[in-house]
Parts: sequence; C-alpha cells; structure tokens
Amino acid sequence: MRLDYLTIFPDYLDPLRQSLTGKAAEGGLLELHVHDLRTWTHDRHRTVDDAPFGGGAGMVLRPEPFGEAFDALDLDGATVVVPTPSGTPFTQALARSLATRERLVFLCGRYEGIDQRVLDHAATRAEVVEVSLGDYVLNGGEVAALAVTEAVVRLLPGFMGNAESLVEESHEDGLLEYPVYTRPASWRGLDVPDVLLSGDHARIAAWRSEAARRRTAQRRPDLLHPSAAATAWDVVPAT
Ligand code: SAM
Repeated sequence: MRLDYLTIFPDYLDPLRQSLTGKAAEGGLLELHVHDLRTWTHDRHRTVDDAPFGGGAGMVLRPEPFGEAFDALDLDGATVVVPTPSGTPFTQALARSLATRERLVFLCGRYEGIDQRVLDHAATRAEVVEVSLGDYVLNGGEVAALAVTEAVVRLLPGFMGNAESLVEESHEDGLLEYPVYTRPASWRGLDVPDVLLSGDHARIAAWRSEAARRRTAQRRPDLLHPSAAATAWDVVPAT
C-alpha cells in the first residue's frame, strides 16, 4: 500500500518510521511519502493560509498548494482521506474498508480547516473519505492521520507477525476484548482468574466470551444495541 501525507508539519509524522509501521515500510509492504505542503507555494513567506471569506476567527488553508500537490503526485485513482471533526466517525469497519485500497492520500488540516474546494476538486479525481476521530477538536489532522494509518495498515496481510492476534481484538466481532493477564499469577494481592491457569481451553474460551460480553454491556451498551443508542441520541427533552 502507498500512503501519502500532505501537511505543513512534516515532522509531526515522524512516528510513521517507528515500530511496526517503520518495519513494514523498510520491508516494502508500505510505501510512505510525507510531503510539506509549502513545497507548492511560490511566495517568499511560503504562505499556505488566508483569512476566511465571510469573516470570522482563524485562518483557512488555501486551495492552490493542494491543487499543485495533486497534479504533482498524480492523485487519480487514489483514496483521499481527510481528517475532520465533520467526517464519518472512524471505526474498525471503516479501517477494514480502507485497508482494501492501494493508495491513501491524507490531507492534514490546520487552523480552521481546508478550503472546501480542495475536497470538491479532489472528488472529481479520486474517492474522498472525510473521517472524524471523535466528537472533539484536535489542533491538526496529523494525529488523526497517524491513528487512521495505524488502524488500517495493521490489517494488511503480512503486517502483523502473528495474524491471529487480530482476530480476537476489540471491535473485530462487535465486542470489546476481555481483560488480559500475564505472569506473575499473583501480584500485589491481585490474582489472575483461576480459569486462565487451568489449561482447559474450552473453559477459557467460554470465560473470555462471557467477559467480553459483560465488559461490552457495562462500558459500551450501544455496541450491543446500536438502534437503542441511535434512539437515545434522538430523544429531545420535553419542555
Ligand atoms: N474549525 C474546524 C471545525 O470546527 O470543524 C476545526 C479545525 S481543527 C482546529 C484543525 C484540523 O484538525 C482539522 O482541519 C482536522 O484536520 C483536524 N481535526 C480536528 N479535530 C478532528 C477530529 N475530531 N477528527 C479528525 N480530524 C480532526
């Protein structure tokens, strides 16, 4: 998979070269390209932003550097991922879908965001997916791009040393993962549940399944009953 990042803070994406993602890049499974958006500016100050039409606080990223970057990077056929609080909530299902693409191009916003015409133009040349990490506001799209990247690339065949570790993870089967333990069996007066030391694989599987269901019911009942959650959000308090 090829991954491109357009950002005004290229160093923010240095963690891509660390750990498993870095190894996958060294091994050729990933091709990583981080681009400084200012490469495609032409004034002395390498300006990328300007005041919003219509007034208001903050600055907006101008369209021209993105347009030139799209031409230089040959955007056609790629999937353009735009982190934004207005986007589709990012989920494991969306990560799975993005993992089927051959090329992702991340547009990292800053300030008040990116001129809307950048997205409209990109949509004439590529698939555009606007993605929100959650209902809060970050300073920029880089952290979101890193999070989306990690969630996507670990699903690529050959990325994880042991592909089995993906199977039982939170959100893969619609549930949160059961609690996990390692040695020592007893630590500061806290003991690992006996069943996990029993060697009885059927009992262990049953315990884990029940623990996952219980944890999900307690912490994220919306995952068990998505329609109930939607209804709850729709409720308008009586006045
Ligand atoms: N004015 C924008 C708004 O209210 O929607 C927020 C801009 S934010 C300060 C700057 C950039 O951070 C955004 O363009 C986006 O790239 C990124 N960002 C902020 N919050 C995000 C979130 N929840 N999910 C994904 N990206 C986010």
